[in-house]
Amino acid sequence: MASKRKSEVKVVIIGAGIAGLSAAQHLQQNGFQKITILEASDRIGGRIHTMAFGKTESDLVDLGAQWIHGEGKENSVYRLAKKYGMLKPLIRLEWGTGVCCNEEGKEIRQELVDDAIDKGFEIETELEKVYRRNRHLSEDELTIQDFYNKRFDQIVATDFPEVDREDAKSVFNYFLNLMRFDNGDDLRHLCSRNVGQYRSIGEKEDVCLPYGFQSVINALLRLMTKVKIILECAVDKIIWIDSKNRTNDVKMICADGTEFIADHVIVTCSLGYLQKYHENLFEPALPENKSQALYEIGYGTVNKIFLYYDEPFWTKGQGTIRFAWTDKNRDINSADEWYKAIHAFDEPHNNAHVLVGSVVGEEGKYIENLDKDEVSRICTQQIRMFLNDDSIPAPRDVLVTKWCSDKWSCGSYSYMKQESSESRRNDLSQPLYNDDNKPVVLFAGEAYHKTRYSTTDGARSSGIDQAQMLVNFYTNQCRRSF
Ligand SMILES: Cc1cc2nc3c(=O)[nH]c(=O)nc-3n(C[C@H](O)[C@H](O)[C@H](O)COP(=O)(O)OP(=O)(O)OC[C@H]3O[C@@H](n4cnc5c(N)ncnc54)[C@H](O)[C@@H]3O)c2cc1C
Repeated sequence: MASKRKSEVKVVIIGAGIAGLSAAQHLQQNGFQKITILEASDRIGGRIHTMAFGKTESDLVDLGAQWIHGEGKENSVYRLAKKYGMLKPLIRLEWGTGVCCNEEGKEIRQELVDDAIDKGFEIETELEKVYRRNRHLSEDELTIQDFYNKRFDQIVATDFPEVDREDAKSVFNYFLNLMRFDNGDDLRHLCSRNVGQYRSIGEKEDVCLPYGFQSVINALLRLMTKVKIILECAVDKIIWIDSKNRTNDVKMICADGTEFIADHVIVTCSLGYLQKYHENLFEPALPENKSQALYEIGYGTVNKIFLYYDEPFWTKGQGTIRFAWTDKNRDINSADEWYKAIHAFDEPHNNAHVLVGSVVGEEGKYIENLDKDEVSRICTQQIRMFLNDDSIPAPRDVLVTKWCSDKWSCGSYSYMKQESSESRRNDLSQPLYNDDNKPVVLFAGEAYHKTRYSTTDGARSSGIDQAQMLVNFYTNQCRRSF
């Protein structure tokens, strides 16, 4: 095979989310000069999407990623944000502000709330160890939901006095909804054995971007002087082995018929997108181990609800309302009881007029089709009921995200379900090689990272890893040709 100089190698990247941009930046840094990003939508950022919501342009909301999970040098997004001064002022996720109430309007004492939440996090740590120690699980511990419920029952009976047990159970119900949000789907779909494959960074401190997560995207864009980005350019077909013409290249055909030829393509479409469209996207079809892996990794829906108030009814810094349903009312019997899946309304740090809540799983999908007024009415009713205060105003405006029906995301982020395994994640991230043993199709994105899946850090790291694979390929090729 003729060796090519890196500056001559054409790389197409599908998707201008953080994985695609990070891959492009890394390639550029290492001497590649012919890099084109094809992005289906009309904006850059993918599941990172900051927008103005309120009276002024500086009233921001993050529709997708909001937190950098894990403050520490090992976190590639934290490193980038810190290097370019995007973390000033430093805002850490704080626990314990605001109130925690049940649906009867009873505020649960803070000390009890803190105690129960600490126990919840201890169970999470225990869950993480199951994987590392390859511990045996009994039938009633296999899903995360079962695991927590079993432990909660034990803890309530042993660690809380009779008089506090009902409240402790309610706080655990809040905690389960919080874990749904963290894990990205109904906890009955998540596998206890595999939780520990995810690697936390530091002491699990989360920090937020004061000017929205888009500031990370903007920083990356400023670094990319040699990268061409084409928006509204959806790739419909990737011909990675052209048996007719016997070329060594890969061809992309876009929805409008435009064709791009490259030496390599890095595909950063979400797992949900590939689950839905891979059969038509790749020619020839994906090898079976890869297509199988696509379905064996879970991909859920998390949607956010933003409530905008002209005059906030809460004291700044104390606006969080945690919903601690009592056991008798906690079950969600059908998706139209979606409001029971909201763990809390919180104050985002970059918008003093907004409260944000999230709804996950089937209920999360359900709210995408609701009328704004209906969401406003039900959220107001819920806040009034839990705060026991009928004078709480209705929000002036409501914004509901639609990550599941977003054609290019098809959901929110990946997780480990019963069928998932480390080797399946590995299958997902393996490149496709053509007959000349050239990695023609590479895969990057949050779902393709073995230990930091679901996060922006995982997405960025996997973009860099795949780009590095190409750097190595050409470095080795160059050595071979001497
Ligand atoms: C509600 C929500 C909250 C989240 N919260 C956090 C958080 O707090 N912290 C955190 O770290 N992570 C969070 N995440 C996850 C994080 O947003 C993602 O892990 C990360 O942004 C994924 O980046 P990516 O580059 O892998 O994929 P994407 O951002 O999805 O990028 C893929 C790009 O490919 C494009 N595309 C798809 N198909 C095609 C095609 N056929 N042709 C051309 N382009 C195509 C898409 O339009 C998209 O721009 C959250 C996600 C959601 C939805």
